[in-house]
Amino acid sequence: MARDAILALNAGSSSVKFALFGGDGLEPAAHGEVEGIDAAAHFLARAPDGTSLADRRFPAGTRFAAVLDALLGFVADHLGGDRLGAVGHRVVHGGTIFDRPVRVTDAVLDALDALTPLAPLHQPHNLAPIRAIAASRPELPQVACFDTAFHHGMPVLATSFALPRDLTEAGIRRYGFHGLSYEFIARRLRDLAPKLAAGRVIAAHLGNGASLCAMAAGRSVDTTMGFTALDGLMMGTRSGSLDPGAVLHLITQRGMTAAAVEDLLYHRSGLLGVSGISNDVRTLLASADPHAAEAIDLFVFRIARETGALAAVLGGLDGFVFTAGIGEHAAAVREAVCDRLGWLGARLDRAANARGAGLISTPDSRLALWVIPTDEEAMIARHTQEILRG
Ligand code: AMP
Repeated sequence: MARDAILALNAGSSSVKFALFGGDGLEPAAHGEVEGIDAAAHFLARAPDGTSLADRRFPAGTRFAAVLDALLGFVADHLGGDRLGAVGHRVVHGGTIFDRPVRVTDAVLDALDALTPLAPLHQPHNLAPIRAIAASRPELPQVACFDTAFHHGMPVLATSFALPRDLTEAGIRRYGFHGLSYEFIARRLRDLAPKLAAGRVIAAHLGNGASLCAMAAGRSVDTTMGFTALDGLMMGTRSGSLDPGAVLHLITQRGMTAAAVEDLLYHRSGLLGVSGISNDVRTLLASADPHAAEAIDLFVFRIARETGALAAVLGGLDGFVFTAGIGEHAAAVREAVCDRLGWLGARLDRAANARGAGLISTPDSRLALWVIPTDEEAMIARHTQEILRG
């Protein structure tokens, strides 16, 4: 009997990442990306071992629905005897309503649309493929998985801004993001180090977007991103936390428009803004320019500073987990962070750190230090399979 394969989609402003999982155990079958969907789309797919399965360029102006059709065509050709059971989507905002993944219906889609003002830069891109597939393949079940859901149980103190109540009640509060990544890490840690997973852990998702999550017994109790994915740590091109007075100054004294401030804080700040060179840590680590080193130093400083705050929230700290592009691959950044966490009892095994994944603390380290590769698409697929099976 044909089994249900699951397609996980992670759609951004100009690209759609995908991963196809087959069989009951959700074995990876293919993964890839469509880049440049806002211009000339380029479709790339790879097998789990990295061999190329597809490399196709679309003429400029090809409609999104046609590109998505091509992706579904590729999937149909690579099901290996399975049938496509459902498509799971990463959706950035579930608001206060969605505390877990949900099967998409017209009513759900309307509710997700209504959340767009909370994430105007991301939510429409996440919903576009859901809509397109609902139109072209109405019989295909779709599941929305939220970046906010893992943080849904955060205590009120962690979700509140010190703003008048009517604004809080209108939804201007802290939500937190990167939830699919943190949920994956929490589950993985339960397998790798069950005793630690039951304790006080900070997970550091350090990619182009970056945040920290304080977990008590595997549940999020606080996180550095708040109302938007702009808050907290310094990121590739985003500023992270900023005195709101600085934003007011840019508007009132420098005459910047809201759109110009948005562009500045989302696209021209962070590692790129401080270095003046690049948002890519690889480029910065290889550069002799002192501004590159300054950018990395500030990135590390902010991580250490926010770690102190979250350790206070947790009432102490048992473990620290690095994940995502920088966390998984930049040994020098991990070393600099761990050196700053010495006061929490961190002792880095430098040889293990240079090798990469797994436990990277010494046996006498009070703080367990881990590198755990994240897999948001696998988390989406797992949720989607669970919902499909009721
Ligand atoms: P992500 O958003 O998780 O895909 O992470 C992307 C970022 O990870 C890139 O912009 C780089 O800064 C960083 N990165 C990826 N690979 C490496 C590497 N080998 N060494 C250092 N940084 C890396």
